[in-house]
Amino acid sequence: MSEVLVVVDHVDGAVKKPTFELLALAKRLGEPSAVVFGGSEAASAAAEKLTAFGAEKIYVVDDAEIKGYLVAPKAEALQQLVEKTSPAAVLLVSGYEGKEVAARLAIKTGSGLITDAVDVEEGGVTTQSVFAGSYTVKAKVTHGTPIITVKPNSAAPEETAGAGTVEQFAATISDSAKKAQIVAAQPRKASGRPELTEAAIVVSGGRGTGGDFAPIEGLADALGAAVGASRAAVDSGWMPHSFQVGQTGKVVSPQLYVANGISGAIQHRAGMQTSKTIVAVNKDEEAPIFELVDFGVVGDLHNVLPAATEKINQRKG
Ligand code: FAD
Repeated sequence: MSEVLVVVDHVDGAVKKPTFELLALAKRLGEPSAVVFGGSEAASAAAEKLTAFGAEKIYVVDDAEIKGYLVAPKAEALQQLVEKTSPAAVLLVSGYEGKEVAARLAIKTGSGLITDAVDVEEGGVTTQSVFAGSYTVKAKVTHGTPIITVKPNSAAPEETAGAGTVEQFAATISDSAKKAQIVAAQPRKASGRPELTEAAIVVSGGRGTGGDFAPIEGLADALGAAVGASRAAVDSGWMPHSFQVGQTGKVVSPQLYVANGISGAIQHRAGMQTSKTIVAVNKDEEAPIFELVDFGVVGDLHNVLPAATEKINQRKG
């Protein structure tokens, strides 16, 4: 069986959950091999978890030249790894970096590329939601090595009892790949909440909050969720743009999306309608958001959310 390369998303060896989801999907296509960019300390920190979630082999690409630059050296190293291993597919997380590396790799290897998949089946058939969610498309790469980026929360991670092997991979990075250098990196201020695009639960607020996001944040914290916002809330200056969900914001696909005081405009739906379960709280029973929910509550969010939060916190004990 061929290998399937999974590009690991990690911060100093702390592997992010979407990578474990990719490993679960990779098993459907072949033998999962993880590719870790970073020093040996980060790699050994990552190795145990990667093995526990199904990586049979872990390639460590430890090169100072990769760390100090943007995505081009990573694409070049991956190209060399693809040439060496002839994998059945390369899977990456659908984020800004994952998609840029994937696009560059597709050009370099003359391969087909599928982005923003929400499922990958045996045989390499992927599912995508396109045109702001108006269509669900099944697609398959028929040329070269299939390169697929997958949205976070598209699969459940699967723990296994295997023992993976670790192998150093020495890539040769050309001068042309080193034209854009990182001169400073500022870590994002930690909110204590999960990253919006990776969160299993997202609680969002819209114009209906009237600018008071305390009930949204209270429920989010009770559920261990990320906070999102509609464009109306962002345009009103109540939340930064990095919280915006939708066509011109972030696309999320969590297990649970809770929309509060959000009418359900097509541009907002484009960012959340592939969520597995959708709940809405809106005081207008005719609000379009109710067309796509699994559960709806007609009511004032300022009453409903604190009551729900209290119940959840009581249950947690
Ligand atoms: P509204 O549409 O005003 O809805 C507010 C809702 O809150 C209403 O349904 C109301 O009944 C309810 N409500 C009011 N008070 C309460 C209360 N106390 N309790 C409960 N419910 C209450 N929008 C996005 O969200 N994301 C995008 O990325 C995005 N991109 C866009 C791109 C373009 C090119 C364009 C043209 C628009 C875009 N929009 C986007 C804007 C979009 O069309 C809507 O205007 C926006 O989503 C509306 O936000 P909202 O639902 O919060 O506000």
